[in-house]
Amino acid sequence: MAVYTCPSCDMSVNTTCGHCGADLRDDVIVLDSGAEVRIAECPEGHGNIKSPLCCGSDMACSA
Ligand SMILES: [Zn+2]
Ligand SMILES: [Zn+2]
Repeated sequence: MAVYTCPSCDMSVNTTCGHCGADLRDDVIVLDSGAEVRIAECPEGHGNIKSPLCCGSDMACSA
């Protein structure tokens, strides 16, 4: 299960795909600029979103 938690305040979020209900998979993409962006993507190929933010920083996935 893709549960993202905030290291600062303990907020947690469950991420699932709205199309198929699958748990999103934690991944990292590298932009042309070389910057790494953490994302959560659907394992069935329905797309991806940027990882959730809390307290000004990326939340960490414990899955
Ligand atoms: Zn999906
Ligand atoms: Zn937080």
